[in-house]
Amino acid sequence: MAAHTVDVVIIGGGPAGAAAARLLATWGHSVQLLTKTVDRSRSLGESLPPSCRKLFDLLGATDAIDAAGFLASSGNTVWWGDQTTRTASFADGSTGLQVVRCEFDAVLLRLAAEAGARVVTDAHVHDARLAPADVPPGPAGATVTYAIADTGTHVVEGRFVLDCSGRAGVIARHGYRVHDVGCATLALTAVWTRHDGWDLDDDTHTLVETYDDGWAWSVPVTVSRRYVTMMVDPRVTDLERGGALSACYEAELAKTVAFRRVLDRATRETTPWGCDASLYHARTAGGPGMLLVGDAASCINPLSSYGVKKALASAWLAAVVVHTSLTNASLAAVALDLFNQREREMHTALSNQAARFFAEAAAQHLHPFWTGRATSAELSDAPDATPTVDIDALRRDPAVLAALDTLRRGAAIRLRRGDHLRIAARPALTTREVVLENRLILPSWPDTKQGIRYLRNVDLVRLVELAPDHRQVPDLFEAYTRRCAAVSLPDFLGALSVLLAKGALRHDPT
Ligand SMILES: Cc1cc2nc3c(=O)[nH]c(=O)nc-3n(C[C@H](O)[C@H](O)[C@H](O)COP(=O)(O)OP(=O)(O)OC[C@H]3O[C@@H](n4cnc5c(N)ncnc54)[C@H](O)[C@@H]3O)c2cc1C
Repeated sequence: MAAHTVDVVIIGGGPAGAAAARLLATWGHSVQLLTKTVDRSRSLGESLPPSCRKLFDLLGATDAIDAAGFLASSGNTVWWGDQTTRTASFADGSTGLQVVRCEFDAVLLRLAAEAGARVVTDAHVHDARLAPADVPPGPAGATVTYAIADTGTHVVEGRFVLDCSGRAGVIARHGYRVHDVGCATLALTAVWTRHDGWDLDDDTHTLVETYDDGWAWSVPVTVSRRYVTMMVDPRVTDLERGGALSACYEAELAKTVAFRRVLDRATRETTPWGCDASLYHARTAGGPGMLLVGDAASCINPLSSYGVKKALASAWLAAVVVHTSLTNASLAAVALDLFNQREREMHTALSNQAARFFAEAAAQHLHPFWTGRATSAELSDAPDATPTVDIDALRRDPAVLAALDTLRRGAAIRLRRGDHLRIAARPALTTREVVLENRLILPSWPDTKQGIRYLRNVDLVRLVELAPDHRQVPDLFEAYTRRCAAVSLPDFLGALSVLLAKGALRHDPT
C-alpha cells in the first residue's frame, strides 16, 4: 500500500472537520479530509445561535449558508423546572438557524472542497498512528489507514492529523478521553409534522421542557416539521433490559405536559431512534502533530445549543495552530499550549453555564437525574478560565477614579514605570497565526494573569513606553494617537488612570 503525504489529514467531516479543512486549504496547505458515508435518516435537527454568524463570516461561508435556505429562528420557548411558559427572543431581533445536520454539513464540505481540500465522503478511518513524540518531526506526523467500500484499504500520511471524528473519537478514545461521571444521557428522537401550526407564539422557536427524570427538546426545521427528542438517563429506562425504543420514547413523552399539548394534533413521521449524548472531555486536546477538535475533544450538554458553534470555533483555533506550526516551527510548542488552554477554557465555560441550568431544574425536580447532574458539574475539576478584565469594576474602583480626577485637573505629569511592572511576550491569536506579543504583567492586578495588552482598544504597552517622555496629558494623548490606532479621549484617560491605579505607572515628582 503506497502512501502519499499531505500537510494535514482530517478525520471526520462534521462542522469541525469541514471548517478546519476549508481554512487550511484556503491558507495554502494540502489537506485530505476523510469522512464516513452519512446515514441521512439518523441526522438530527439542530439549533444554531445567531452568534454563529461571526464564524460563518470567518470561514467565508455566510453566503452559501444563507443560500441553503435553513429556517431562521427568533428564539426559544421553555418550560424549565415548572409549567410557566418562558419565551425568549434573541437579542436585537437577530436570528439563529434551525438546520438538518446532514444538509448543513454538506454545505460546509462543499466549501472545503471548493477551497482545494481533497474531500473523501465514503472513507471509514480504521487507524491513525502518530509518530513517536521523542522523534524529531519528520515529513509525517501521522499515518492514517482508511477503507472505501469499492476500492479497499488506503493509507495517507500527514505532517499533522486532526481528529474531528466527534463522539467516535478515532484518536481521542486512545487514552485522551474522560467520561463525565453522572452525565449518562441517551437522546431518543423522532420527526413530527403538523400542517396547521403548533399553537405557539412563534413556530420557529426551539422548545425545551423539563420533567422529573429527563427533558424534552424540539427543533423545527420547517414551519410544519419538528425533531422532538427526549433526553433520558439510559440506566433508568428499561432499554438496557431489552425494552423497545419506540415504547420508551412514547413513555417519556407521556411524562411531559407542554410537549403533549404541542404534539396533540401532530403526526409522528418516523420511528424513534437513539443516540448517545453523554458528556466527556479530553485530558489534553493535542500533542505534537495531532489535535482533537470539536466533539472529539469534548462534548457539552446539547441544552446550550452551542455544540456546532464550539466545533466551528475549535476548528478555527486548530487551523491557526496547524498553520503556525507548519510555517513557523519555533512557535509550534507555544501554539499547542494555547490550543490546549483555549479548549479547556471553552469546555469549562460552557459546562459551568449548563451547571447553572441544572441547579435551577434540580431545585424543582428533586430527582437524581437533576441533582446528580448539578453536583457532577459543580465538582468539575477543570481549571478556571483565564480571568477577563472587568471594565465595570474598574469604572467603580476608587483608586482608578482618584487617578482620573488627578489627570483631569490638568496638572503636569511626570510618569515612570512602576517598580513591579513586567513586560513579557505572551502568545496571542491573529486571524490565522499564533504570534508572541508583549504584554503587561502586574502581580497587583490578578485579572491580568496572562498579561494584558489592550484596554478598550488602548495599547497599554505603547502607552507605558511613551508616558515618561511627556509632561502634559494632552501632549501624551497627541503622541499616542500619532503612533497608534486612534482612540477616544475618554478611553485614553480611562486606560491611563487604570495604569496609575494598578501601579503600572507612578508619578515621580523628582
Ligand atoms: C441529541 C443532540 C442534540 C444536539 N443538538 C444540538 C443543537 O441543537 N445545536 C448545536 O449546536 N449542537 C447540538 N448538538 C451537538 C452537536 O451535534 C455537536 O456538538 C457537533 O456535531 C460537533 O461537531 P463535530 O464536527 O465536532 O463532530 P460531528 O458532527 O460528530 O462530526 C464527526 C464526523 O466524523 C465522522 N466520523 C466518525 N468516525 C469516523 C471514522 N472512523 N472514519 C471517518 N469518519 C468518521 C462522522 O461521520 C461525522 O461526519 C446536539 C447533540 C446531540 C447528541
